[in-house]
Amino acid sequence: MPSIFTKIIKGDVPSYRIAEDNKHYAFLDINPSAEGHTLCIPKKEIDYIFDLEPSELSALNLFAQKVAKGMDEALQPIRTGIIVEGMEVPHAHIHLIPIYKETQRFSLGMQVEVSQNRMTELAKLISEKVIL
Ligand code: AMP
Repeated sequence: MPSIFTKIIKGDVPSYRIAEDNKHYAFLDINPSAEGHTLCIPKKEIDYIFDLEPSELSALNLFAQKVAKGMDEALQPIRTGIIVEGMEVPHAHIHLIPIYKETQRFSLGMQVEVSQNRMTELAKLISEKVIL
């Protein structure tokens, strides 16, 4: 049974697409901890991120770096934070979460309301700034 993220990569489940190369995909988290909260995943379905081959883990991080730079350019946060947890979806992923204020709490438990229109707008803004 493919993971929900594999279904997203295949286009069987919709997503707010940010960027894609032949081995990775980035899209907005539908339960964002902050506006622009993005997930970066390998197209290869593997549960635990540290079970990726070293070269695959490096490539995923380098992909996430390019996405984060695009987020910084598009959204102008203080910086973009990074979390790897993976307790909900068994498909390796990196959370990229913009930090807009020094007092902003930075955790996956925090959820902000973002309308569908704003999600579409955020995906467009970020995707235009990501250079792969
Ligand atoms: P975790 O596995 O705890 O690191 O987190 C999985 C993340 O995937 C959560 O933040 C969810 O909101 C997110 N998520 C689950 N399903 C979808 C989906 N269909 N589209 C975008 N994000 C999702």
